[in-house]
Amino acid sequence: MEERTAAVSPFLDAGTFVRFAETAEAIGATTKRLEKAAILGRYFAGLGDDDLLRAARYFAGYAFSLRDQRTTNVGGAALVAAILAVSGADEARLRERLVALGDAGDVAHEAFAASPTQAQLAPVLTLGDMAGFLETLAATSGTKRKVELVTDLLRRAAPLEAKYVVKLLQGDLRIGLKEGAVEDGIARLAGTDVGRIQWVNMLTGDIGETALLARHGRLDTARMRLFHPIKFMLATAAEDLSDVARQMPPEFAVEDKYDGIRAQAHVARATPGDDILHGVSVEGRHVALFSRTLDEITESFPDLVGPLAAALTPERRAASDEGFILDGEVVPVQGERILPFQELQKRLGRKTLTEAVLSSVPVAFVAYDVLYADGRVLINAPFAERRAVLEGLSGMGAPLRVTPSERFSDVAKLDEAFDAARVRGNEGLMVKDPGSPYKPGRRGRDWLKIKRALATLDVVVTAAQVGEGRRSRFLSDYTFAVRASETNPTLLNVGKAYSGLTDVEITRLSEWFRSHALQSFAHGKVITVEPKIVLEVTFDRVQPSTRHKSGYALRFPRILRIREDKPVEEIDTLETVRRLAEAGGGAAEAET
Ligand code: AMP
Repeated sequence: MEERTAAVSPFLDAGTFVRFAETAEAIGATTKRLEKAAILGRYFAGLGDDDLLRAARYFAGYAFSLRDQRTTNVGGAALVAAILAVSGADEARLRERLVALGDAGDVAHEAFAASPTQAQLAPVLTLGDMAGFLETLAATSGTKRKVELVTDLLRRAAPLEAKYVVKLLQGDLRIGLKEGAVEDGIARLAGTDVGRIQWVNMLTGDIGETALLARHGRLDTARMRLFHPIKFMLATAAEDLSDVARQMPPEFAVEDKYDGIRAQAHVARATPGDDILHGVSVEGRHVALFSRTLDEITESFPDLVGPLAAALTPERRAASDEGFILDGEVVPVQGERILPFQELQKRLGRKTLTEAVLSSVPVAFVAYDVLYADGRVLINAPFAERRAVLEGLSGMGAPLRVTPSERFSDVAKLDEAFDAARVRGNEGLMVKDPGSPYKPGRRGRDWLKIKRALATLDVVVTAAQVGEGRRSRFLSDYTFAVRASETNPTLLNVGKAYSGLTDVEITRLSEWFRSHALQSFAHGKVITVEPKIVLEVTFDRVQPSTRHKSGYALRFPRILRIREDKPVEEIDTLETVRRLAEAGGGAAEAET
């Protein structure tokens, strides 16, 4: 049989959106990371500069660069409305498919392929069209207007184009491609080591610009730009004191482990054009706060903005005020005292932060690291050197603090330090290697955390819900309950967990729940199930809550395992939950 060749020269149609979509399909069809990078590298090589910039961002799942605070902000309901309007599909059927496929892009593809107006359309969209569309969308407010814009674009879209327009608007192409793989693809394109690409991407906060610099051999010219989140360095739990002794050098740094919200603060002189950057400008300086999930959270802490803007690095006056980036924790405080995390919850999730709320739950930013200051990227500098820079900051006071950090050379003293940290209202200790660099996004052994012993509960699943992202095809989020008492089998919900199981386990449970459903809500997205599956869950703490019938909720629950060995009659009771809450959440014993 004669082989079919591509209808158009790969160079002529390289900048079309359908070529982007076909490349994405090819990437989604392989699970091999190297192959994904090779496909991307080849695709990138055929693009002009403008399109390379766009395609690199889109493959990483961004409509704009990470520094850019603009968002398209089109919700799932708006996407479904636009898909329905253009394809003329039956709504009930489409929603059923959405539950089955779990991705609005896949649903759009199906609906458009079956649509008399769309199925036969020839692809016409270009990457340039997409860029213009995304900008207009970001500049438009109001759901109705946004739906109209999406609808107008989708009317011009062939099925495969529609699939990726929708996926891009969802912020994730769901083709098993992470930003790291895009960096791999760029490394291929430029014949460079991926480490250099990662570094420049971290400095610039723009994978598109990184691709261009790589192509033109100008990676060395990249400079640190602020106001985009840098991935956070994470800690590993120490098993016991001998673990600390084994992992740490003879002398190590010891700090309190604060229980608040991890945050990264960016501060620099405000310059024209800052309005599209994350953050806010006050008194000539620009300030932004990012969460561990890399979301901007400046708006939740307006009371930290002024103090951060006023903070000074040692060279601020002398140098050009290139600013700084701090890593730390936002904690609720009362004067000098740090309050329990629950206090902070009173402030989170509120739509508007009134003066009354702000003053009833004051917060402090406790800085424990610095990633950049006065034109120097400090990520590769040893912790001891970063500490020195941190201690040189002035204007730190009241809501801005620097963690006290002590040098220890004897692990036996950690016991006492742990108790002292607990008395100060903190969670435990962090132990750090003074010689270690800051490793963005890595959970290494340079930072060890010492917390309470793990507390667990055995619970039974009462409801299951379809998950997010990769897990949207499965019932992967589980609400679970404990028994009212040894003698009373009434089940009382106490939490909901999303993580901890393997894909295989989730697939199996998902099937089981579907065939043991009691009631179905939201088109089968949420179902109540026969209470038979027992899980062992762990959590950071138990706290009183009105959310669940038990009157308690677990903070950060994770599933440890499915207790195949345990019947529902033997799961934990409300009494155990109450005891855990009274003991401060975790097990009563401290682990050091
Ligand atoms: P974990 O979340 O259990 O992996 O523990 C690491 C977390 O402890 C970090 O993400 C921070 O939010 C928090 N933390 C509290 N105090 C410190 C500290 N002094 N140094 C580093 N991380 C800290």
